[in-house]
Amino acid sequence: MTVTTPGLHHVTAIAGDPERNASFYVETLGLRFVKRTVNHDDTKTYHFYFGDGEGTPGTNFTFFPWTDRGRRGEFGAGQAQATAYLIEPDSLEYWVDRLESRGVDVEQSQRFGEAVLAFEDPDGIGLELVASEAAAAADAEPWDDSPIPADHQLRGFHSVTLAVPEFAPTASVLTNVLGYELDGESDGRRRYRAAGENPGSVIDLVETDLERGRMGIGTVHHVAFTVTDVEAQERWRDAFSDHGQHVTEVIDRKYFQSIYSREPGGVLFEMATTKPGFTVDESIDELGSRLTLPEWLENERAEIEAHLPPFDHESIGSGEH
Ligand code: ZN
Repeated sequence: MTVTTPGLHHVTAIAGDPERNASFYVETLGLRFVKRTVNHDDTKTYHFYFGDGEGTPGTNFTFFPWTDRGRRGEFGAGQAQATAYLIEPDSLEYWVDRLESRGVDVEQSQRFGEAVLAFEDPDGIGLELVASEAAAAADAEPWDDSPIPADHQLRGFHSVTLAVPEFAPTASVLTNVLGYELDGESDGRRRYRAAGENPGSVIDLVETDLERGRMGIGTVHHVAFTVTDVEAQERWRDAFSDHGQHVTEVIDRKYFQSIYSREPGGVLFEMATTKPGFTVDESIDELGSRLTLPEWLENERAEIEAHLPPFDHESIGSGEH
């Protein structure tokens, strides 16, 4: 049985220096720093979440900043090649000017009839802005304190492009487990779309001859899809198993409940619930203003804080970068 997803929930990548990472996503891209916590599986590492004004699922790019002493990754097969955000078609020139004036190299192209701006973040992670009519339908909430005027702010995810050794095995999981359908093919790229055609419902596949990528700084760690509720999540677990895919137990990630399964092309997929969301431990006004920890780590707070890398939260958004 196929269960459907509205589309992307979040994307998580590995960054180097935490301040450089946060300043780029907040000051250059104008996303809100919606949550500052630690990697639950490695509490010496921060876990940063950047998203829209309320941290709406489908808008959040999250990072494990390993500091510049961490191991650099290597892009290759089984990895996300680019993560794309939606912008309004009228915002295209604004973003070309903004990125170029901040020293970001931008490449412009057309893809499936839409303008695409491609660039990299300071750690070499592939990003795109897609100027699309679909931006009007996005339910991203503006962030009032963003350096970007509301009209031009990012509108949540458009898509993720996955580089895989061959189309068929990954496409089989997308269509048979996740309910995506082939929506088009152009220039060696196959576009899949989730039921409902929501913003963030696109996954593009490209084939690569590169070796399997190596996880580390500058690479995407996993791609998360939205699950509407915990009952649907159980059906997802069955759907992965029925397709012969290993899938984890349900894991409590504090802001959502998750399961994980690595698709045969090598990309780690997560299925994350929309609830309880980021307001479970901070009000909307307070989002990202302090280091939050889940209950099961709260009694280790002093030790955790002592082992985290230097990070001056106050400097983010202050224009010092
Ligand atoms: Zn995740």
